[in-house]
Amino acid sequence: MAKEEHRIVKGQVTVPYELALGRTWSAFYDFLKEERIMGKKCGNCSRVLVPPRSFCPRCFVDMDEWVEVSQEGVLETWVYVNMPFFAQEIRIPFISAQIRLDGSDSGFIHQVAGIDLQDFDRVREIVKLGSRVRAVWNPEKRGNILDIAYFEPAD
Ligand SMILES: [Zn+2]
Repeated sequence: MAKEEHRIVKGQVTVPYELALGRTWSAFYDFLKEERIMGKKCGNCSRVLVPPRSFCPRCFVDMDEWVEVSQEGVLETWVYVNMPFFAQEIRIPFISAQIRLDGSDSGFIHQVAGIDLQDFDRVREIVKLGSRVRAVWNPEKRGNILDIAYFEPAD
């Protein structure tokens, strides 16, 4: 059998979509416009989740109580992203991090910035697990997660 030549068809697919935020996320974003980070507290297990959930995924009960948490927290884990990937809108390099805000019981995913991100060795000296970070607000609020511009080292 003769070796078959592989032919390629190139194209591009776009997927427009709309996502209904619902009451909980809409309220969360409205609070961000006021520079307040709010979570929801479970009336059963008392955990505070940020971002908020409409129900506790552990107890399966509605979470009705809003609780304001600190704008500072602890870096639980982080990753340095220096390669572009499909649909990524953030310029590289950047740090994606999980932050446990004081007063919450869940990880909050956002960016750590406000430092020179070009030199990875220098980044590793500054950004460490367990270190403190604080929210830096975007002066222009749009009612989305980027109303918090990023978290900066607070140690
Ligand atoms: Zn619960």
